[in-house]
Formats: sequence, C-alpha cells, structure tokens
Amino acid sequence: MKYTITLIPGDGIGPEVSLAAKRCIDATGVSIRWEEFIAGEEAIRKFGTPLPDDVIASIRKNKVAIKGPIVTPVGTGFRSVNVQLRHTLDLYACLRPAKSMEGVSAAFKNVDLVIVRENTEDLYMGIEFQEGSADASRIIEMINGLSSKKIRSDSGISIKPISVFGARRIVKFAFDYALKNGRKKVTAVHKANIMKHTDGLFLSIAREVAREYAGKIEFNDAIVDNLSMQLVSRPQNFDVLVLPNLYGDIISDLCAGLVGGLGVAPGANLGDGIALFEPVHGSAPKYTGLNKVNPTATILSGVMMLHYLGEKQAAEKLEKAVKDVVKEGRFVTYDLKKDRNDPSAASTSGMADAIIQRMKG
Ligand code: NAD
Repeated sequence: MKYTITLIPGDGIGPEVSLAAKRCIDATGVSIRWEEFIAGEEAIRKFGTPLPDDVIASIRKNKVAIKGPIVTPVGTGFRSVNVQLRHTLDLYACLRPAKSMEGVSAAFKNVDLVIVRENTEDLYMGIEFQEGSADASRIIEMINGLSSKKIRSDSGISIKPISVFGARRIVKFAFDYALKNGRKKVTAVHKANIMKHTDGLFLSIAREVAREYAGKIEFNDAIVDNLSMQLVSRPQNFDVLVLPNLYGDIISDLCAGLVGGLGVAPGANLGDGIALFEPVHGSAPKYTGLNKVNPTATILSGVMMLHYLGEKQAAEKLEKAVKDVVKEGRFVTYDLKKDRNDPSAASTSGMADAIIQRMKG
C-alpha cells in the first residue's frame, strides 16, 4: 500500500458519505490502507469520550485523514470534536473552495472563490465562562475594574483572542496559496471598525503581509457585513478570502449556498505537514441512514486529499467523473434535481456508483 490514511466516518450522514468517498477514492487506483476510527456520538457510547486518544495518535502518525461530520451539542454537552481536532493537531488553515459546477442550479454562475479560514483562535478557542459561575464573576469584576464600560453581573463570557502569530500565519498561508494556485487577489475580512484590538490587529497584520507580495498578488479588505452583501450580489468579484475563525465559518456556508448548497462544498484543515479533509456540511441528522444525501462534498474533499498527496492524475480523474455525473444530472441525489421530490433521484451510494462507473468508462 502506498499510503495509510485515517478515516473517521463520523455521525449522522457521515458514514454514508464517507463510504461513498472511500469507494470513489479507491476506484482511482491509488493504493490506500484505511485506518478507520470512531469519533463522536458512537465513541461516547463505546468509549465514554467523543474523541478517543487513538484517533489523534493515528492522524499524527499518518499525517493525512479524511472525516465525515461529527455532531456538536448546542449550548451544553461536550466540546466540538471538530474544533478539538483542529486545535490539538494545530490544523490552523481551513481551506474551502466555492466553485460553480455545471448542472448544479445556483443563484450565480462562474463563481470561483476560495475561503481561507483561521482555525485555531478567535471565539472558537473555547475559553468561556458560564453565567453565574465563580470564574465568570471574577472575570467580570476584573474587567469592570479595568474598563469604563460595565459588564452586567449576569453575563456569560466568551473570549476572542487574535494573535499577531496566528494572524500572520493564516494571511501568509492565503497569499502562498494564491501564488501557488494562480490566484490574483486576496481579500482580508474583518470587523476592525468595531473590534479594534482583535480584528484591527488581524487587518494590520494582513496589510503588512500583503506588502511582501506586492506586484504578485493584489490585496484589499472588506468589513464582514459589507462583504456578505457584496457576495450575494457580485460573488465573481472575489478570489481568495482570508478570515478569522467565526467569520470564516459563517461565510463558508454562505458561499456554499452561492454555488448550489452544502451538498457540493468540500474542505480541508491544514497544518504544517498534517491535513484533515472534510465536507463543509454537518451531520444532517434527519437524513441519517436514508442513503439519500449528496456525497459530492465528501468526494470532492477526497479530490483535495489526492492533490495534497501529489496524486494529480487520480485527483483530476475523480474530479472529472464527479463533474460529468453532475452535469449529466441523471444519477444525482435529490438536492441536485430540479424538483427535490423527483423520484428518479439517485441514492448516496447510487451516485457514487455512477461516479466510479464514469472513471472506468
Ligand atoms: P448540516 O450541514 O448538518 O445540515 C443542514 C441542512 O443542509 C440539512 O438538513 C440538509 O438539508 C442540508 N445538507 C447538509 N449536508 C447535505 C448533503 N450532503 N446533501 C444534501 N443536503 C445536505 O447543519 P446542521 O443541521 O446545522 O448541523 C447538524 C450537526 O452537524 C450539528 O451537530 C452541527 O454541530 C454538526 N456540524 C458538524 C460539522 C463538522 O463535523 N465539521 C460541520 C457543521 C455542522
């Protein structure tokens, strides 16, 4: 076997879309030994933790992993496994291309932009203090002593750190990606008019880094609310977007919507010498076990993985097969049909079969 790769099927629709992707990747002929691990809800049931240590150990050893979505309880319960993986493995760059595909009905054509989301800092650091707790009271007391603004005593607190190191590393990543991939422009996204010491810092570092690439890659910046308006009216004006964690999360779903929905939006989480590929979408619990949802996002995450491994031919072959099947529109899942109730819609595994068949033909 040429590669050993960690596979985490995940929760909800995760196992279905992961199996489809695994079958398509294997059908490219690249020889992979898959090391499969449970994480998320099933891991809690079996091992009492959503992220067992051997999952992390396997990814550290293999350096490359692909995963399905994993449930995150809202408001209470365990911390997001996805966020934990990104933090523990220092997968600081989240790369999410949003590209129009022929055959996918979407509000816009010719969208081709890439989101580079910072993955480790910002409000996602998980530094939070529960309303009413002794620690929250101490923090509030301290801040009220330092600031002329007063935080109400019954507040919950989430901390938003953005560092010079983290901002520089992600903005450099975005510019290097742009250079390597023939992109023209990087736009830094922020809310620096309001959060001067976090988003303001992000913007000033972005401007500094941009100067190193002057003459090679264009640079501009946009305030996140204004960017949202521009994206839904003229998305073709954008190329590479670099954003702090929270805005990156929100804007990547928005951009997935621009090109036809979460079913077709792939992603990668990259660190130095380590990579974890996953679709943008979540576990879509109401579709669990129905063999109904679109496997394209996970298969295209597999295409990104093949490129990362240097398997260019296999990546291109698989991407072309996906595009052909989607363009033809026969063996596609319900979400890619004109009428979402079209009884001729393919199942998850059926669409994977068609993609595999196309690669053979
Ligand atoms: P979701 O992305 O799971 O689903 C929202 C809707 O998008 C679905 O109801 C469905 O209509 C559509 N959709 C998603 N994937 C699709 C696909 N492959 N094919 C066709 N349609 C698809 O978002 P949610 O309901 O907000 O989140 C469900 C769970 O997933 C939550 O626990 C959330 O925390 C988790 N989540 C995990 C990840 C991850 O693992 N990286 C990412 C996002 C959300």
